[in-house]
Amino acid sequence: MVAVHLTRLGAQERVVLIDRSPVPARGAAYGTSTDIHLLNVPAARMSALADEPGHFLKWASARAGRDVAPDAVLPRRLYGAYLGDLLAEAQRRGPLRVERGQAIDVEPIAGGAWRVHRAHGEPVDAGRVVLALGNFAPGDPPVREGAGFYQHERYQRDPWTPGALQSVARDEDVLLIGTGLTMLDVALSLAELGHRGVIHAVSRRGLLPRAHVERPLEIVPGPEPEAWLASEATARGLLRAVRRAVDETAERGDWRGVVDSVRPVTAALWQRMSEREQRRFVRHLRPWWDVHRHRAAASIMVQIRALIDQGRLRLSAGRLEGWRVQSGGVEAVVRAKGSGERRTLRVGRVLNCTGPESDVERLTEPLVVRLRERGLIQRDPLGLGVRTTQDGAIIDADGRADGGLHAIGPWRRPRLWETTAVPELSVQAWDLAQALIGAQVPARRCGG
Ligand SMILES: Cc1cc2nc3c(=O)[nH]c(=O)nc-3n(C[C@H](O)[C@H](O)[C@H](O)COP(=O)(O)OP(=O)(O)OC[C@H]3O[C@@H](n4cnc5c(N)ncnc54)[C@H](O)[C@@H]3O)c2cc1C
Repeated sequence: MVAVHLTRLGAQERVVLIDRSPVPARGAAYGTSTDIHLLNVPAARMSALADEPGHFLKWASARAGRDVAPDAVLPRRLYGAYLGDLLAEAQRRGPLRVERGQAIDVEPIAGGAWRVHRAHGEPVDAGRVVLALGNFAPGDPPVREGAGFYQHERYQRDPWTPGALQSVARDEDVLLIGTGLTMLDVALSLAELGHRGVIHAVSRRGLLPRAHVERPLEIVPGPEPEAWLASEATARGLLRAVRRAVDETAERGDWRGVVDSVRPVTAALWQRMSEREQRRFVRHLRPWWDVHRHRAAASIMVQIRALIDQGRLRLSAGRLEGWRVQSGGVEAVVRAKGSGERRTLRVGRVLNCTGPESDVERLTEPLVVRLRERGLIQRDPLGLGVRTTQDGAIIDADGRADGGLHAIGPWRRPRLWETTAVPELSVQAWDLAQALIGAQVPARRCGG
């Protein structure tokens, strides 16, 4: 999106986009090859161009040859095609070069410039570097015994690895670690591939994402930003304010409007909290917030409920304690939430669906390791990403942000909290592109 905007804004300097994936501009979210994976944001809010809020809806309507409804929940693969079109158009328009390859190091060079090294090929020199690295693979859940299993072929750390699901035998039982949006995707993909075994899914609380409503008109808008900003700046205070607002709107409508009304002020609410309160929020409220905030399409939840009713998907709440590799399978030892009872699940394969690792100290990605070793990035105290300024300049280990290295997307979570979905990313991309080029045109937020 940043590259596209740079060409739209008439960049004169060369723009080089380095991406290691075979098809650029897709990422894990939109690189899927199946239409059962749906967007979790309605079409009207998915414009990649913050200055043209209806852009995706218009594109999708033109492609379908009919008007697509603003609240339509479209396949993620289609969104990938949209991004591909935008990129191709940008390449035709401006001085943009797309290079396939893995960036492994960013080195400061003379004149305040940077040299981006790749695993193969010549390095690329640049005046400014934008790190749009997206979501990293999940981290291995800590266990008391049998951590060596994480090197075993029966374990799949990253379910988005091409071919990861095809390697699951049709009749073998599987364990999915995590019960969030990734688990939903993986469970439905397995079903689509004809998998007939039992799918166990375990998470600490066993919470499933909530569903979007079919008819969003029933959503009554929640409180205005000012009302949220008047709430107490603590995790508990926020919880109380949300509960109160939900109670107050209960007779007229749905809690979803309340949750959505927090979105425009999420960054402000997050930044008001002390580090101690932010930590409390992450520890106690985040799982609840995530399932209400990051909802799944209603049709997805209908399919998931059907799998549960048929006994093919079995959810449990508990803590993973260990692994025991046996001939023909692996045993997962889970301590149940509440009762504390120890349960053993015997499965043929385990897929990690816990979501992206965010702690830069735990990431082993060569690029991140080098940035860390060079002192170019700084872990935030909560391990949510890297420290940045409000506008995304990366703060180095000495606390300086010289303005040459920028982050966009999930890495900005320590500062903004809400920074993974298109409605936020499109605004970040627009703001950053303008800052890079020295232009100033305000974005027209597409809401939500
Ligand atoms: C499964 C899934 C579904 C989602 N669904 C939605 C949705 O419906 N709506 C929504 O708004 N958001 C959704 N999201 C959120 C998603 O994070 C954003 O919409 C968006 O895809 C993030 O874009 P990004 O460019 O920051 O990261 P990504 O799309 O992950 O792109 C990062 C790119 O950088 C490349 N890369 C990383 N490191 C290197 C390196 N060292 N060298 C070279 N290339 C590198 C990767 O290969 C990748 O192509 C979803 C996320 C996931 C994981």
